[in-house]
Amino acid sequence: MLKRTAYAALGSISPFSLPSLARAIQSSSTPYQRPKLKITDVRTAQVLVHGPQTHVRIYTDQGIYGQGEATDAAVGASSLIRGWRRMLIGLDPLNVEAIWERIRTIGIFAGAQAGQYVCALSGVEIALWDLAGKALGLPIYQLLGGKFRDKVQIYCDSDMDVPIGPEADRKLPWIKAQGFKAMKIDLDDARDPARWDSFNWTATNGEIDRMVKWVSHVHESIPDYMALACDMHGRYDAATGKKVAKALEPFKLMWLEEPCPPEDIDAMTDIRHSTSTPIACGENLYMRWGYRELLDKEAVDIIQPDFEKVGGLAEAQKVANMAQAYYVPVAPHCVVSPIGQMATAHACATFPNFLACEWHWINHQDLWKAWVKEGEIIVNGYVTPPDRPGIGLEMDEEVAKKAQIPGTPWFEPET
Ligand code: MG
Repeated sequence: MLKRTAYAALGSISPFSLPSLARAIQSSSTPYQRPKLKITDVRTAQVLVHGPQTHVRIYTDQGIYGQGEATDAAVGASSLIRGWRRMLIGLDPLNVEAIWERIRTIGIFAGAQAGQYVCALSGVEIALWDLAGKALGLPIYQLLGGKFRDKVQIYCDSDMDVPIGPEADRKLPWIKAQGFKAMKIDLDDARDPARWDSFNWTATNGEIDRMVKWVSHVHESIPDYMALACDMHGRYDAATGKKVAKALEPFKLMWLEEPCPPEDIDAMTDIRHSTSTPIACGENLYMRWGYRELLDKEAVDIIQPDFEKVGGLAEAQKVANMAQAYYVPVAPHCVVSPIGQMATAHACATFPNFLACEWHWINHQDLWKAWVKEGEIIVNGYVTPPDRPGIGLEMDEEVAKKAQIPGTPWFEPET
């Protein structure tokens, strides 16, 4: 860490020039060699792959920058981050938690404790951890307290419109061949002709029969060792959620996800206590406060924070630690690029109650494999957080730029 910082300050001077090195160390670190850094700029780039993602870069006066990613509610993230830029310039980026709390609290009077605001904050927080890792010469998992596991298990979201037919015939063998031990399908189908109407999400028996048929087909098509999760996307009412959870009991699902709206915690509790099917939710909840009532009421078997929208890596770790007090495992929602997937993996390595993390780019594999210069990061269904500083990956901008949202900036400075 010392060398890195000192070299950055030295610029083109040889690192072996010892008197210069000593001077650089004095000006860029404390007597205990903690680097002195100041934020000089914050820039963003917006892409559209599985939904919109905002990539964040935080620059410093020592020539290093950190990169983070925000997702899902990222449409307004870029302008929010630009709004924080002036406040961030000049701050010491190593005080990650204090910067996070400052941004969170200035949003209180705007009611900004969820949604786009916290999503944007997540991207900034992850960039700060990447930056801190690079400044200190340590991987993020080390900064977050060290790891419980070397490899982080990934499950494959199959992203199928209809999990019976040609798409399933192609994808199910591929998922198995990749070495995944768990996968997910979606059960909600807005185009199901058996629906009552296009707004009401009380499922008819015809819809429930269709869901059971889909699950049965996938269950029979994958090996016994592979776990299957099903997602209802929080659309249906409690009565439907209860019926579906009961009907799917024979398939011993890994979980049934958002069988009713996630904010309807009493209904979620009711469903959970009516069935042996494990119930999961959490991708649409924000920060530690968003999980309090859910955990207090024992509404779910598994929680699913999305680290690129819940508030970032340390916030996700806090949510996970809170869940551990309730004996609840964590299966993160994750739909981002390899940068965010690896940042998530660093944090997943650092708490005991980790179950499996989502991967959602099955329909975007050309971009996935080439997005970072290090290449494919999922091997046999696992991601291994590297020992390199920070996240440990570098974006291949030529590739990532193919997904740029037209008319949006690409890490360009403010004019
Ligand atoms: Mg989901």
